[in-house]
Amino acid sequence: MHRFRSIVLLVMALSAAPASADDALESAIAEVERLAVTAHWRESNAGIEALHPRRGAMSDHQRHRIDYVASRNRALAGDHLGALEDLGRLLQQAVEPDLHVRAYTTAISVAANVEDWPLAFRWLGQALERMPEASAPAASRVHGVASYLLVLAGESNIARFHATRALAMAEAEGAIRETCLALSEMGLVEDHAGNYREAERWRRRQIDACGKAGDPVFTAIGHYGVGKMLNRQGRHAEALVQTRRALEVHGKSGYLSGTWGARMVVAESLIASGGDLDEAGHLLAGALDYYREEGIHFAIAEAEEHMARLAEARDDLPEAVRYYQLAMASQAAAERDVRERRVAYLQLEFDTRVKEQQIALLEAEAEVAALQASATRRRQWLLAAGMGGLLATALLLTGLLRRSFLERKRYRWQSEHDSLTGLYNYQQLRKLGEQAFQQARTRAAAFTAIVADIDRFKDVNDRHGHAAGDEALRSLGGWITGVVGDAGIAGRSGGDEFSILLEADAAAAEVLLQRLRDRVEPITVFGQTVHFSISAGTCQSNGDIDSLEELIHEADQALYRAKQQGRDRVVHASGEPRAASRGASLVVVGSGIDFGRHASERCLSEIREAEVVFCLVDPFALAMIRGIHPDAIDLGVHYATGKDRRETYRGMDAAIMQALHAGHRVCAVFYGHPGVFADVPHAVVRKAREAGIPARMEPGVSSEACLYADLGIDPGRWGVQSMEATQFLVHDRRPDPAGLLLLWQVALSGDLACTRFHAEREGLQSLVDKLLHCYPPDHQVILYEAARLPIETFRAERVALRDLPEARYQEYTTLVVPPLHREGGVAEDAARAAFA
Ligand code: GH3
Ligand code: MG
Repeated sequence: MHRFRSIVLLVMALSAAPASADDALESAIAEVERLAVTAHWRESNAGIEALHPRRGAMSDHQRHRIDYVASRNRALAGDHLGALEDLGRLLQQAVEPDLHVRAYTTAISVAANVEDWPLAFRWLGQALERMPEASAPAASRVHGVASYLLVLAGESNIARFHATRALAMAEAEGAIRETCLALSEMGLVEDHAGNYREAERWRRRQIDACGKAGDPVFTAIGHYGVGKMLNRQGRHAEALVQTRRALEVHGKSGYLSGTWGARMVVAESLIASGGDLDEAGHLLAGALDYYREEGIHFAIAEAEEHMARLAEARDDLPEAVRYYQLAMASQAAAERDVRERRVAYLQLEFDTRVKEQQIALLEAEAEVAALQASATRRRQWLLAAGMGGLLATALLLTGLLRRSFLERKRYRWQSEHDSLTGLYNYQQLRKLGEQAFQQARTRAAAFTAIVADIDRFKDVNDRHGHAAGDEALRSLGGWITGVVGDAGIAGRSGGDEFSILLEADAAAAEVLLQRLRDRVEPITVFGQTVHFSISAGTCQSNGDIDSLEELIHEADQALYRAKQQGRDRVVHASGEPRAASRGASLVVVGSGIDFGRHASERCLSEIREAEVVFCLVDPFALAMIRGIHPDAIDLGVHYATGKDRRETYRGMDAAIMQALHAGHRVCAVFYGHPGVFADVPHAVVRKAREAGIPARMEPGVSSEACLYADLGIDPGRWGVQSMEATQFLVHDRRPDPAGLLLLWQVALSGDLACTRFHAEREGLQSLVDKLLHCYPPDHQVILYEAARLPIETFRAERVALRDLPEARYQEYTTLVVPPLHREGGVAEDAARAAFA
């Protein structure tokens, strides 16, 4: 109905009386635009078609508007390449600023859709240049699209900055459609930054705002976004409602990629909430075909992961494993895409900064030239004034030349320094840094880059004002100058980020940073005290990193990790050459207690897939693992009698890290659950991540899990305290006799030197003495050992508490202290019942 009404309106408008022909044409064009925004693209295109014969009567601006709408419709219908060509042509023309900027934003989004990142970022640069001439709503769109691209390039912070600007500008102008778009960007930023609740809130505001703006597509994107975020928070049933709504609207409007996105989230909700798995499978298969056709790797990875979950839900483990493997490969491709976007973005950043510097330099030189010209004019005039003024002329000339010299010096200084902090500016820092870096490289000397950034500086600006922010930057500049002195090259790389380049190693950089952080203190501006801290990333090259660019990039990545880890800290990038550890990855898996029964399909496939396998497991498990991966390395060789176990653990870490730095895909298998009572697995995961190597841990069946199964205890019934026996003994840990108490490695009680593997009476007696404060001497306790082979049975030996020192122990024996039964107290505990 609506479609026909619109076309009738258009035809009526065009066939109106000649006196109002201009008005009629204008309202017909406006109608075509309105139809496009409200997602009636087919009608909008029909209108454009109908207007074709009238092109001759249109002004340039009207023609541009029509061309813009036509290309936008083309893009939304899925013809991205055709739309890009049309938009590229339009951008070349003398288009009115607002329309020009809008055309840029659309063109950038389309270029992003076809993954032409250099083009997208180049257009973004041009749009940002054109932005000052445009109105605030149009400028808001440029900030919006900048945010979108930067999110995709993994630059969440800068993306957030742009999205915030976009929203502030749109809201200040009361521009509802731009507000709707900016809210969508805010949602996307927080989604990518992993702030799901926050993202959900923005998406809900988006639904409101886009509804008010009458934009069904972005309202539906809002529902899709809310659904996606609800899934992330485990609220699958609510997610399903939201995404089905999005799907309905996208289906109606024919917005293809929106439809597939929504279908995928519907499938995710169905799988996670135990819904209709056949429907989920059908949706995912379609989505996977679509994304593979389009070559969108991150979406392919996501769809494959859902496929794996689906297979798991159907108990089809081989299929699940197959999809997980596919998803991992697609994820790697998606990460490559992100790196490509980053390169395109950094190129734009670099070009813009170089351009700014060149302009500043040219301006400075122009001023010097003007001064010299005026000096020359004056000199000529004075000479002409005759011999009488010769002396005065000479004096004046000297003065002028001197001034000219000083001015030149001042301009040179200004073109090389940042005026606020007095440090080198970005361009000069790079220029001097490049020379120093190459010199160090030829001598194979250590060279370290530090990138430091003020923490939550936006808050300083917001809370205390820009002037206070400036003062903080100035103070920090002064402190950096003081600390670095002649030892290196220090500059402000932009915003609140500073770089320091030292011909020294990372240890020296650390000392310098410590001195700097010691000097950072609250400053007082207009009577207000401003507190702030800094984070820094460092990277050392020993002549093995190819370019200063790469070194700074690594330091920048380390800074990013420092921010991620909570700020106010220094993180070192791995000193290893990037090329070596590129491609390295670590997965830590648990073999379970009884490898044959407990090793998961996942664990086995990780062992199979890895290039290097390390094992800290019992001999039976080791033999079985070597059946899968004959070269599996035994970490047990690091143990030695009398050797401090902490030293042993660090030896194990080092062996694993060495394989990672050599660029291998490593799987480390640990007895039981790799994250429970285990030092090495946690340490290597942390160290690998600090070195920028992807690392993860897969759970395994722990002996605690076996204990509950074997002894028939439900830990949820009365609660449980579970800790190492020595920790219980040495620290002030009070048992709660109403609940279950588990003490691990009782045999090693009191072994503070961490050197022994056998039980000692003295340690056991101390343990009993401490327990006697809470339990009677005849309290029945259990010595538990899980079975490690299918042919073994578990040990559950009941002894009186007082007799513990005389009992038999293995290194891994666990002491189970059942709850104390009080007369008239709580009912018998399941554990007591089981062993009564
Ligand atoms: P983070 O801890 O993640 O670094 O948070 P942040 O708030 O510091 O975020 P970010 O580094 O991205 O923000 C830099 C802010 O610095 C953005 C901008 O408002 C502000 N800024 C940039 N240049 C100047 C300047 O010359 N003066 C002042 N006062 N503020 C600036
Ligand atoms: Mg900052």
